[in-house]
Amino acid sequence: MPERLGPARATPLFDKIALIGLGLIGSSIAHVARRQNLASEIAGFDADADVRKRAGELRIGDIVKSAAEAVAGADLVILCVPVGAMSDAARAAAPHLKAGAILSDVGSVKSGVIAAVAPHVTDGVHFIPAHPVAGTEYSGPEAGFATLFLQRWCILTPADGADPEAVAKLTAFWEAAGSHVEVMEAGHHDLVLAITSHVPHLIAYNIVGTAADLEEVTQSEVIKFSAGGFRDFTRIAASDPTMWRDVFLNNKEAVLEVLGRFNEDLAALQRMIRWGDGQGLFDLFTRTRAIRRGIIAEGQETAAPDFGRHIGEENGPD
Ligand code: NAP
Repeated sequence: MPERLGPARATPLFDKIALIGLGLIGSSIAHVARRQNLASEIAGFDADADVRKRAGELRIGDIVKSAAEAVAGADLVILCVPVGAMSDAARAAAPHLKAGAILSDVGSVKSGVIAAVAPHVTDGVHFIPAHPVAGTEYSGPEAGFATLFLQRWCILTPADGADPEAVAKLTAFWEAAGSHVEVMEAGHHDLVLAITSHVPHLIAYNIVGTAADLEEVTQSEVIKFSAGGFRDFTRIAASDPTMWRDVFLNNKEAVLEVLGRFNEDLAALQRMIRWGDGQGLFDLFTRTRAIRRGIIAEGQETAAPDFGRHIGEENGPD
């Protein structure tokens, strides 16, 4: 499995790309697009003037003062804003897209984003929603780095009848950024991500909140003895509050469906503990260990202690 990006392309894939939203994901796309020669021109806009200033200092592209200016003449426009801001971002950008341009996004929820963006898409523009399944608990332009998407999945959820050439071009873009690409129906994406990402984040937010409220255990004890599994929950629970609020509000049905199943299984575990069903606990833990080993075998995680968290640093911010 490659741990580094390959050589840069000899010729750019696009003449001009525009990134709306220059936080972790937008700035990481800019870094990889520049490093891999994916576009001759990279334009960026963020609604926050301070973010625009900081992104300008990072020299990741031509940072401009309006969405209209950023997307003018662009062949590929990617909305990299929180899910709840997708509608506003699309309203500001879409009318200024040229015919034949590809409009995409990176939202962690797909059905909700499609409902928010699609009404603003003008004739002749190809809207191909996408979700790079890659991230960290950091946000803002300084958090971005070129290898964020390396060996990660990027899921495209084009509508039936979407232009195959546009899908192929966006696939080529994400593959050149180091990702594996899969095409999926939007509703199915939302269910898969509810179980693999959204509900795990909710559990982390919940357990860290429970620990903070536990009166018999002091805050300093929580921090001091955190190595026993809790520490990994705190990392996830440090994720951006705006982004995750929007994810839960916009993937309500799938998250509630998975939470219902989760609560039933938790009640079963509670019963096993109460009745001393050691065999039941052992059997479940044996099954779950096999899933972890499968994830490592697929290259989506390393077996290194500390979850291999430091392993990618040599590929880190450029
Ligand atoms: P981020 O670091 O918080 O950056 C988002 C940026 O967009 C912020 O600077 C924000 O400004 C700006 N923004 C908000 N509304 C805007 C608008 N209407 N027009 C232009 N800019 C606007 O967030 P991120 O982590 O990059 O996430 C961006 C998207 O990627 C989200 O949809 C998220 O679901 C998705 N995603 C995130 C991850 C992850 O792990 N972080 C992984 C995969 C996909 P303000 O701060 O002033 O609002």
